[in-house]
Amino acid sequence: MSISNSIVYDCIVVGAGLAGLVAARNLHRSGHKVLVIEARDRIGGRMYGQYLPSGQWIDKGGQWVGPTQDRFLTLLDEYGVRRFPSPAEGQKVLIFDGKRYEFNGFFQGFPEGEPPSVSLEEWGDAMDAWQRFETLAKKLPSGHLRRDRQNQKLDSQTFTQWIEENTKTAFGRWYFSYMSRAVGYLGPAEPSQVSLLHVLWGNNCAPQSEHPEAELLHGGAGQIPEKIAAELGKRICLGEPVLRIVHAQTGVEVETPKSRFNAQFAIVAMPPHLAGRIIYDPPMPPLRGQLTQRVPMGCCAKILVSYNCPFWRAKGLAGIGLGNCRWIELCADSSDPETEVGVIATFVVGDRYRDWRPMSNGDRRAAVLGDLAIYFGDEALSPSTYDEVDWPGEPWTGGGYAAFMPPGVWTSFGEALTAPVGRIHWAGTEMADRWAGFFDGAVRTGEAAATAIMNLL
Ligand SMILES: Cc1cc2nc3c(=O)[nH]c(=O)nc-3n(C[C@H](O)[C@H](O)[C@H](O)COP(=O)(O)OP(=O)(O)OC[C@H]3O[C@@H](n4cnc5c(N)ncnc54)[C@H](O)[C@@H]3O)c2cc1C
Repeated sequence: MSISNSIVYDCIVVGAGLAGLVAARNLHRSGHKVLVIEARDRIGGRMYGQYLPSGQWIDKGGQWVGPTQDRFLTLLDEYGVRRFPSPAEGQKVLIFDGKRYEFNGFFQGFPEGEPPSVSLEEWGDAMDAWQRFETLAKKLPSGHLRRDRQNQKLDSQTFTQWIEENTKTAFGRWYFSYMSRAVGYLGPAEPSQVSLLHVLWGNNCAPQSEHPEAELLHGGAGQIPEKIAAELGKRICLGEPVLRIVHAQTGVEVETPKSRFNAQFAIVAMPPHLAGRIIYDPPMPPLRGQLTQRVPMGCCAKILVSYNCPFWRAKGLAGIGLGNCRWIELCADSSDPETEVGVIATFVVGDRYRDWRPMSNGDRRAAVLGDLAIYFGDEALSPSTYDEVDWPGEPWTGGGYAAFMPPGVWTSFGEALTAPVGRIHWAGTEMADRWAGFFDGAVRTGEAAATAIMNLL
């Protein structure tokens, strides 16, 4: 039985991830009475840090930041969080079809500098297709996508269809599939699951060419929620999943298993599929209800492996590996230069995750370390610590890095993504039209939702 709380808040924010915390902080700073209600017994959502016994931090959720993510950078500056360039000095490793290439350029989702020495035909194939992809993406107008004939045509295709029509070599095909499985706004998703329109839109809204993985934070991104929460004090309730929101012309009533809270407005700050699980009374408009059934989260586990030191550097390696290994397509040195410890952050995504997850703990660990040894040598087999986060298994997230649009969703249901419904507004990185899927997108939507409510109060 839930207990009614007599206070009437100006705004209740549901979800204490980055977007919700920023929204609540801005409302609080402008003198409004605000309450944040969070399902988990911790804040931060997909921003989730931990300190290892060695004193080194790891980020089990997001970790990188890029130079044009200006809303998130402003937040970091405000809290005095120092950044450092993502370690990248030395040779990067590409493993393709069992062959090993070392190269000295930047190649994460966007090629720059000296290419890996796969054959000229293969590299040229990938780069020609890349040019066509960019040209097509640039034709889209900015902002969220409208329902028109051109968009509907692009939205009727999967990324796989485009890849098959635009590449000639196995490397070219893998390069674009890898992008689909590695890049933030894409879930990550297998290319057969994601709309071509969404991929093109994402490339404009969160371009890899702007290097979103350029920097890391001393102390990790996981420290940020605590800093924002410090300003909010007791205005955050943990361990209270919101089950139901009753909304009327006069206000909202927000119900958890333990309590009922009243407010003038609510901001629901979470990925669309979780917003769709809340019961609304009266129900959401049908388009919104349909949308939230159709926006899945990406399929990704993140693994953090630490070593006594970054052993790969003595071999001239950057600690950055990519390629079509059995489990690991991307791994990156995430060691803080202020400690001696070496940290590799890596991911098992898409169908690889599907096959890896049911294995025993020991087999999963052996699979990951075995692939890291292919990239960096046998020293990778003997880490000091090994931490996995199974994001699809986290009920209050349901996957990672973010949600993506399968074919047909943008043009049939996209208009319901951000439109407020009565006194309920939406926030969360998935709602952003710049840096969607990233911290920066979360900050933008939190700020925008708070401003919208302030204008109504
Ligand atoms: C493995 C991984 C790696 C990533 N890497 C990067 C990166 O390097 N750089 C980057 O910029 N971004 C990265 N991201 C994405 C980034 O973490 C997210 O974009 C951002 O943290 C999302 O914040 P949010 O507030 O929108 O959503 P969330 O963090 O998901 O917050 C939503 C909150 O709502 C709560 N909630 C859900 N349902 C309810 C309910 N019914 N009642 C109450 N509370 C509820 C959840 O518990 C959660 O706390 C990564 C994400 C993951 C998972």
